Amino acid sequence: MKRILLLSLMCWFAGGSRAHAAEPPALGAIREADLKRDVYALADSHFNGRSAGTLDELKAATWLAEQYRAIGLKPAGDDGTYFQFFTLWRNQLSDRSTISLNGTPLTMWRDVAVAQLARVTLDAPIVYLGKAADVDLASVDVAGRVVAMEANPAEFNPAMSLPTWRYARSQQNKFGVELLRRGAVAIIFVNDEMGEKSWDDSIENFKLGTYALDGDATAQVTATAPVLWLRASAKTALQAGQATLKASLLVDTFPYPSVNVVGKVAGTDSRLASEYVLYSGHTDAHGVRNPIKGDAVYHGADDNAGADAALLACARAFVRNPARRSVLFVIHGAEERGLHGSRVFAAHPTVPLKDIVAVLNGEMIGRNDPGTATLLGSTPPHRNSDTLVEMALAANREGPNFTLDNSWDSPAHIEGWYFRSDHLPYARLNVPSIMYTTVLHPDYHTPQDSAENIDYTKLKKMTEWMYRTGWKVAEAQARPAVNSDFKLER
Ligand SMILES: [Zn+2]
Repeated sequence: MKRILLLSLMCWFAGGSRAHAAEPPALGAIREADLKRDVYALADSHFNGRSAGTLDELKAATWLAEQYRAIGLKPAGDDGTYFQFFTLWRNQLSDRSTISLNGTPLTMWRDVAVAQLARVTLDAPIVYLGKAADVDLASVDVAGRVVAMEANPAEFNPAMSLPTWRYARSQQNKFGVELLRRGAVAIIFVNDEMGEKSWDDSIENFKLGTYALDGDATAQVTATAPVLWLRASAKTALQAGQATLKASLLVDTFPYPSVNVVGKVAGTDSRLASEYVLYSGHTDAHGVRNPIKGDAVYHGADDNAGADAALLACARAFVRNPARRSVLFVIHGAEERGLHGSRVFAAHPTVPLKDIVAVLNGEMIGRNDPGTATLLGSTPPHRNSDTLVEMALAANREGPNFTLDNSWDSPAHIEGWYFRSDHLPYARLNVPSIMYTTVLHPDYHTPQDSAENIDYTKLKKMTEWMYRTGWKVAEAQARPAVNSDFKLER
C-alpha cells in the first residue's frame, strides 16, 4: 500500500515538473497586435473575398507566402518554393445558353437558374405536379418527360446554418434525384416563399458551377438532365397546363490553378527533426457576391483569416524557439469548394505522409462567447488519437482554460461540423487530427464576417491553445498514436 502511495506521489511530482518544463518558451511571440493586423490585411476588400478559382485567391496566397518569408519560415512547397499548385477543373454554364418557357425567352439568373449543369438541347412539354410534397411521386410516370413542381420546405431544417445556401440542394436531393434516376429529362423547381427568399444567394452558387480535382467524378459534366429553378411568378403558366420548355444548355469546362502555401521550421533533434507537426488553415473565402447590408465583399475574416493569422503567429513562435520535431505550416487553397487543397496535400504531401505526426487545423476561431470553444475530433468514433486529444486538453487547462462545448463534435450534431474542414482528408489517411473552432455565428458566409467583428482577445487565446498543443506534440518523446477503434461515420 505504502509503496504504491509513494510511487504515485513520485509520479505526481514528476508529472508536475514535466508539465512545468512543457511550458512553451515563445508564448510571448504571440501578440494580439500581430493577429489583428494580419486579419485586417487578409480580410481587406483588396483581396475581393479570396474566391477559389480566381486571381483573388492567388493574390492572397502570394501575400501569405510573403508573410512566411518575412517571419523566417523555410519554403516547403514544390521545387524549393512556398507553393504547391494544383488544378481545379471548373464547369460553368456558358452565357450562350438559352431557355424559354411557352416560347418566351427567359433571362438567365433573373427569371431562371440552372442548378445542375447538363449539356443538352430540349424541346418538350412540361408535366406540372404542383407542390412537391403533396404528390405521390412514385406514382408519376416521369421517363422521358420534363417534370415541374413547386418547391416545398416540409422537413427542411432551417436550423442548419444559413438555410438560403442549402435550400436548392435540399430540394434537389429530396425530390429531384429520384425523378432523374427514373428517367426525367429535366426537373424544374418553381420557387415557393423560401425559394424566393434564397434566390439571390442560390444563384451566386449556381453561377460558379462546379470545382473538382483530376480524377473526380465531377471533373467533367456527365449529367444529361438539367435541374432548373423558376421564379414563383412562373407558376400560373405551368398551372394552365400544356406548358413547354425549350432549352439549349452549354457548359464551359476549363482548368484554373489553386495553391497550398507551405512553409516549415526545422526541428532541433537529430532523430525527431524528420517528423512534422502540421498546422492547417485555408486561404479562400466567398468572393464578391450579392450585397447584404450594403457590402458585397464576403471578407472571410473569421472564416478563415483568423486561423491563418493564428498560424502566422505560431510560426513566429516556432521560429523564435524551434522544437525537437519540425513544424509544417500549410494554408490550403479551395477549402470552401470541397476541401480541395487539403485533399491534394494529403495525397501528395511535400514531406512523407508517415512523418506527419499530427494535424492541428484552425477553422473559425475568433467569435462567440469569449470563454467557450470547441475541439473537433475529440468524440468517438471519429476521435482518432487519444494521445493528441489529451495533449490538446492539457494545453487548454494550462493556458486559455476555455469551457469546451463539444456537442458540436457529436456524430449526431445537425451541422456535421467535423466533416467540413481541412483536417478531414488527413484523418481519412489515419493521421492524428483535430480541429480548433469557436463555431458558427449569424455572420457566417456573409459580408459581415469582417475584421471588425473578430474578438482579438479570444483569437489570441485560441492561438495560444494551438501553439501550446503543437509545442507539446513537437517536443514529446513519442508521437501521438492512432486509436485502433477510430472510424469515420461517413
Ligand atoms: Zn472555412
